[in-house]
Amino acid sequence: MIKLPPYITSFMKIFQDAGFRIYVVGGTVRGLLMKHDVSDWDFTTSATPEEIIKLFPHSFYNNSFGTVGIPIKEDGAELVLEVTTHRKEGDYSNARHPDKVEWAEKVEDDLARRDFTINAIALRQAQGKLDITDPYGGQEDIEKKVIRAVGDANIRFQEDALRLMRAIRQATQLGFTIESETMASLQTHAKLIVGISGERIQAELFKLITSNNAADGILLMKEAGLLQYVLPEVEHCFGVEQKSPERHHIYDVGTHLVESLRHCPSADVITRLATLIHDTGKKETQKIDPETKIITFYNHEVVGEQQAKEIATRLRLSKKDTQKLVILVRHHQFTVSEEQSDKALRRFIRQIGVENIDDMLALRTGDRLGSGAKETSWRTELFKKRLIEVQNVPFSVHDLKITGNDVMEYLNIKPGPQIGKIMNALFEMVDDGKVKNEKDALLEKLREIKESIE
Ligand code: ATP
Ligand code: MG
Repeated sequence: MIKLPPYITSFMKIFQDAGFRIYVVGGTVRGLLMKHDVSDWDFTTSATPEEIIKLFPHSFYNNSFGTVGIPIKEDGAELVLEVTTHRKEGDYSNARHPDKVEWAEKVEDDLARRDFTINAIALRQAQGKLDITDPYGGQEDIEKKVIRAVGDANIRFQEDALRLMRAIRQATQLGFTIESETMASLQTHAKLIVGISGERIQAELFKLITSNNAADGILLMKEAGLLQYVLPEVEHCFGVEQKSPERHHIYDVGTHLVESLRHCPSADVITRLATLIHDTGKKETQKIDPETKIITFYNHEVVGEQQAKEIATRLRLSKKDTQKLVILVRHHQFTVSEEQSDKALRRFIRQIGVENIDDMLALRTGDRLGSGAKETSWRTELFKKRLIEVQNVPFSVHDLKITGNDVMEYLNIKPGPQIGKIMNALFEMVDDGKVKNEKDALLEKLREIKESIE
């Protein structure tokens, strides 16, 4: 049995005492029915925005959708309750935005414009009892764990194509299936997703790939026909073979990408996206030797880097996220060998950035497990240890224990390009392990270097 917290009940009573109807609605009701912890509270009411503001002078209203934010204090913490006037939607002239929003009298009208039955349930307190309005059988669908469109799915997806992604994303997050008519309709109208902005697709995709069932979510996108529009680079990798005689791959490239995501241990969304797309360059670079039948993908990470940039542009990623995505894809082929020099390891760290080491390794773990290999190897473990050790040595000229001023003073020379050259040469020697990064040792080398440069 659902119980509303007392502060919610008293909040709703303020509306009821003023003669308005108010309901908890949408994802909040779904969460309550599924016994999840609910932290976002959404309400719908018969009061207009102006009437709400009269009841709560501290509320704010700055959008055209009828949503008023009401700040309240609960348990010492400030939170905002969102209350939206019952709406009914006018005509849709395209798949993006309803032409106009009209207030509605009845909660049933408001529920009719919502996307899925499980999101179209309203709940209120009446005469001390909970009263549920559920015209589309949402409670039953929650029981059955299905996503089903409210009304005619074909019409609903044509009205607003973002619902295509929302259906897959919510099914993935909740571990639900998509009811067969709704699924058929998704497949019919999948192409409409191209009319939706990159930002809004990104928001849905990011929620999907950070959920527990991310890999299955990508497969569901493929089944629904959305993957070919949202991430065509991944879609095109299905059926690209990589099995060679005596090689470890057990999956085609597309399946490998999905399985890599499934096993990626990072919760970071960009690392997860990078893991999902890391091998997309394999489609273009695949070569099969006619005699040995060995399949190669030379430079696939370079082609992949370009594709990562295109994906980032299409999904409107921030500059920072783009940079990280591109670095992770470009360098995912890094070698793990006990024969690499410390210098080579430091070059690798400089290329990817110290801050990305853990995520680069998480991508590798996903990559290995997603090809049917073991999670790690003694080589990888040794490599990880060395990655930490080699960082004790300076990374750039700026980390040297002497400065340009020391150089000028010690050698009695004037500022000029020579100083930089000497500093760089010193750094090379430290990086090569020929001299320690200690002030006296470095000063001792100065004369020698000066002569070699002149
Ligand atoms: P979550 O917050 O966990 O993502 P939610 O169901 O609360 O899930 P919101 O995006 O917060 O999703 O939307 C709140 C409610 O608004 C939904 O439950 C649904 O009833 C309605 N809704 C949101 N987007 C749409 C849409 N594109 N078309 C129709 N109804 C929608
Ligand atoms: Mg919500």
